[in-house]
Amino acid sequence: MRTPVEEGIPVAIEEEEADSAAGSACGNSAGPEETGGARWQRDSEDRYRASFDQAAVGILHTSLEGRILKCNECFAGIVGYSPEELVGSNFQEITPPEDRDSGKSAAMHLLSGEVSSASFEKRYLRRDGSLTWVTLTISIQHDDEGRPQFFLTLVQDINARKQAEELLAAAQEALRVSEERYRTAFQMSLDSINLNRVSDGIYVECNKAFLETTGYTREEVIGHGSIELNIWEDPADRGRLVEMLHRQGVCRNFEARFRKKNGEVFWGLMSASVIELEGVPCILSIARDISDVKTAQDEIRHLAFYDPLTELPNRRLLLERLRQTVTASKRSGRQRALLFIDLDNFKNLNDTLGHAVGDLLLKEVGERLTGCIRAVDTAARVGGDEFVVILEDLGRTSEEAAAQAGNVAEKILASITQPYLLAGRECRSTASMGITVFGDRNESSSAILQQADIAMYQAKAAGREAIRFFAPELQSAVNARAALEGELRQGIRNREFELWYQPQVDGGRVVGAEALLRWNHPRRGVLLPAEFISLAEETGLIVALGNQVLEDACRQLAVWAQRAETASLSVAVNVSPRQFRQADFADRVLAVVETTGANPRSLELEITESLLVEDMEETIAIMNALRSRGLRLSLDDFGTGYSSLAYLKRLPLDRLKIDGSFVRDILADATSRAIAHAIIWLSREMHLPLLAEGVETEAQRDCLAGFGCHVYQGYLFGAPVPVEQFQLLLDGVREEEGSGAEAAPWI
Ligand code: C2E
Ligand code: CA
Ligand code: CA
Repeated sequence: MRTPVEEGIPVAIEEEEADSAAGSACGNSAGPEETGGARWQRDSEDRYRASFDQAAVGILHTSLEGRILKCNECFAGIVGYSPEELVGSNFQEITPPEDRDSGKSAAMHLLSGEVSSASFEKRYLRRDGSLTWVTLTISIQHDDEGRPQFFLTLVQDINARKQAEELLAAAQEALRVSEERYRTAFQMSLDSINLNRVSDGIYVECNKAFLETTGYTREEVIGHGSIELNIWEDPADRGRLVEMLHRQGVCRNFEARFRKKNGEVFWGLMSASVIELEGVPCILSIARDISDVKTAQDEIRHLAFYDPLTELPNRRLLLERLRQTVTASKRSGRQRALLFIDLDNFKNLNDTLGHAVGDLLLKEVGERLTGCIRAVDTAARVGGDEFVVILEDLGRTSEEAAAQAGNVAEKILASITQPYLLAGRECRSTASMGITVFGDRNESSSAILQQADIAMYQAKAAGREAIRFFAPELQSAVNARAALEGELRQGIRNREFELWYQPQVDGGRVVGAEALLRWNHPRRGVLLPAEFISLAEETGLIVALGNQVLEDACRQLAVWAQRAETASLSVAVNVSPRQFRQADFADRVLAVVETTGANPRSLELEITESLLVEDMEETIAIMNALRSRGLRLSLDDFGTGYSSLAYLKRLPLDRLKIDGSFVRDILADATSRAIAHAIIWLSREMHLPLLAEGVETEAQRDCLAGFGCHVYQGYLFGAPVPVEQFQLLLDGVREEEGSGAEAAPWI
């Protein structure tokens, strides 16, 4: 690019170029022969050269035609060449075509003398092809005669500034767009948005959704306050919001109830933050109507925690409240009480009058309960006819609390026993109630419930329509019961149960035996059914136990069938209601009979009257299925149950067993005697064979015989004994019979 200097190039420059080359080769070449003026000139030229080279701006000398005569390192750096490469070329070669005119017009203004210097921005094309922004300041250098010599151009790199400017422009554009977007979002949002002053709630701005939701016009809102418009259902909510904003600056998911212009109230979910508008703090709040969500939530909550029939809390909610109460009572030092209420004979009413009437009764009981307690207390329905009441904040001592709870319980009982008018019928109901006071000891909610439940059972045992308090002494009974259940399970697995046999006598002859269950407890010896049957019933273990009993009894029958002397004996087996109600009860019994090879005609199943209350048709069907295979069925404990004699006719029965309690009192008590007499008469009328249980004395037997009953079971003839002893007894009788001796006392 280095080309020889051509026409129009100032001499001074040529000299300078030569000097510069010589200077750089020989150091300071200024000789002593120089004149003062020449030295000055040389000094000034030296200074110029130094500043030219070291300048932080680009310096360029261009011919009037635009050829680059000279440039410094800085300029060369700006465009990415070396100075040597540039000298001789035309500056337009390193100017992008779009920017060439600005240079030309500036040159013309300068050459015409209109201006002495021109300044403008342009871009250069760098060697690597990129563009770079510069500001040029151009002036014309003249010779001594005033003729234009060359252009002196100062070049400043302004890329950083340009970039900043571009960024700023981009940012401004973005801001404009986002502002627009913001404005659109504000107006179009489905959520209601408003701006109101923190100090007084005066609305400054609001969107369409806000107006639609609240029902106001824009004019009614802007310039008016939320309190004035009565928008907060509870104005204290605004106070809470402001307080929260004060603390945290923002507030999310604030739930509150708002009032529309027409007075309608709705639930809103609100997010808010504080922003300053011209120095005034305002609340920007965005709210959404969540009434539907709330309604759905409430419904779900209601379904999950309330009993649909009585609208009272259900068991789940009760347990939750109880948990809270237990914690609260520890804090407050005040005692609480839990009442367990069970309606007496509800099943009976349900069965005789129907479920619809039963439901009406339960509803009414729920209402009466609620009427007897304070708002802070809880009444819940926890089962079919079971209710629980929690009494809060009673006295500080257990005695005081017990007295208070006792008063409430009396009030409840009195209320429940008032007559009911259900579907046009007057009905009556009573209840048994268990109470436990808590707050002193460290009890769990389930323990508290269990205590009240136990006390309730005590009330039932005391003859119903009664109230009983749980006493801590009973706790040991609770524990023992739990232990017994474990032992019962194990006992069934280990086959610790055994059948004892008690003779049944007809006309002086042993015709059969009732199989009675005994538990050979590993520690406690032989246990009677009273100790474990009800627990087995409650826990359902009776099913497994009952199966063992059936198997054992059938096996015994099969054994006895082998010997002529015992072949005709029948065995009566007790069947508990829970066992009988198993879906496949009849099939199971028949399968056992089949596998053991017992004669079904020798097997008698004893059922009780309680079975007949529940589902009589089903009971009859099962009984028929069994009888059709030869089994016999008897009704145990007759006279103690529901005693509706009408159903007796419909039942496929083979025998009635008159309950031992009538036999026991048959001589002492006229009523018992009358009942026994009536039952015996009835059985004869209905052609139903009869057996009297619990015959202990000859006087009792004679009385029964006088009424016409000749089949007995009782200590008079023999107590229940293990099977070997039972056989010995039979053998003894035979021997005695064979020896012609008097009959054994039990015959
Ligand atoms: P239950 O069926 O009424 O049995 C008669 C009960 O009266 C037996 O009591 C028997 O020992 C007792 N007893 C017999 N003769 C006399 C007497 O002359 N005087 C007195 N005071 N009592 C007499 P046990 O064996 O204690 O059985 C009690 C109850 O346990 C039975 O009453 C029955 O309901 C039930 N039970 C017994 N074994 C079983 C069984 O295998 N399964 C089921 N589900 N229950 C059974
Ligand atoms: Ca029995
Ligand atoms: Ca009985």
